[in-house]
Amino acid sequence: MSDRRPAPTASLASPLQPGVERDPRPGLAGAAPESLLAWLLACGEPAYRARQVADALWRRHASTVDEMRTLPAALRTELAAAWRVDTLVESSVRPADRGLTEKALHRLDDGRLVESVLMRYPRRPGRRERATVCISSQAGCAVGCPFCATGELGFGRDLAVAEIVDQVRFWARELAGDGRHVTNVVFMGMGEPLLNVDAVLSAAAALTDPDRFALGGRHVTISTSGVIPGIERLTELRPPWTLAVSLHAARPSLRDVLVPLNRRYPVEEVVAAATAYARATGRRVSYEYVMIDGVNDTAADAAAVAALLRGRLVHVNLIPMNPVAHTAWLPSSPARVEAFAAALLAAGIPTTVRRNRGDEIGAACGQLAAERAGLPAPSAVQRRRELEVGAGAAALSDGRS
Ligand code: SAH
Ligand code: SF4
Repeated sequence: MSDRRPAPTASLASPLQPGVERDPRPGLAGAAPESLLAWLLACGEPAYRARQVADALWRRHASTVDEMRTLPAALRTELAAAWRVDTLVESSVRPADRGLTEKALHRLDDGRLVESVLMRYPRRPGRRERATVCISSQAGCAVGCPFCATGELGFGRDLAVAEIVDQVRFWARELAGDGRHVTNVVFMGMGEPLLNVDAVLSAAAALTDPDRFALGGRHVTISTSGVIPGIERLTELRPPWTLAVSLHAARPSLRDVLVPLNRRYPVEEVVAAATAYARATGRRVSYEYVMIDGVNDTAADAAAVAALLRGRLVHVNLIPMNPVAHTAWLPSSPARVEAFAAALLAAGIPTTVRRNRGDEIGAACGQLAAERAGLPAPSAVQRRRELEVGAGAAALSDGRS
């Protein structure tokens, strides 16, 4: 093999290849409070033990049973036999952005890798200090957006509730050393949250439950590439969470390429579903738009976005693409990003240009895990070629300015 990258080590195996058998013990942080209480009562414990376990998990962010000092030794032994206090077997952290951004790669019990990112925003006049954690909902992703390193990996598996919330507890533990807290959580790491919707809804509920992680509901954002049934489920539930839709193109033929799920859930229907969510909840929907030089950043693209979103309760975030391996695409120049933003603002659409955080360590969706995994599978490269050279060329020549 002519691969010049280091081979994946045994301890950090490929995200797509499970290394060992699953640990049969469920993750403790994924247990619904009533199941945990039922288990404790069945063990002959008094009901107040549930509060003690919850305190250890959610206030002190315990990762081992030994840290649960308020519990009697016999119960700690029973707990360890039945549950995993932490589902993240091993984590490695890399700093970037003058220490304001850190990225963790977590190994799960079956050897798969997922990532999470901590972004710290120092206090500014009129703004409190924030610490935002970006978490993964799946190992890999089936949607296959060609500019996304997670898409390149393909789909591994859904994460369990505990595997999702343990990423947040990991960073809460790291921050606690400095007397700091996690203030915001975004489901913008690996995976498509609304294709693992049950676990994601339970995880978001645990994170915003006043008796568990106790985050403000508005401080949780779920990002989707446009899974309409999942958006409809959120609309029925009316949670206080923020919905973000990854748009990346308003012209259907281009979006078919950039977000292949568009072929199943067309962009107009996605926007209609998200608008119903905004109406039901009164909450503004965020639209994420990754800007790729010469691909989706033309005046015609801006006009199409304006036509699609004008008059709706939205906010658009423009994000220059983080360069990823296996594609020649580059981020749009600052001038093109500004021109795009100006066109949307002129159409009355609130628009913000976001600087990429952590790009020097590959903090864009899935990049670090992709790096560690070595080269992508030949089938993924083949699919990329088909997308970029075939359908891509046709779509890019459609309606260019
Ligand atoms: N699957 C969900 C959530 C995870 S992706 C979704 O797509 O919305 C989170 C965000 O990272 C998405 O908006 C995605 O488009 C963006 N992203 C992926 N690859 C990127 C890259 N190379 N540069 C910048 N943003 C990227
Ligand atoms: Fe999946 Fe989101 Fe990446 Fe698309 S951008 S491949 S939906 S993780």
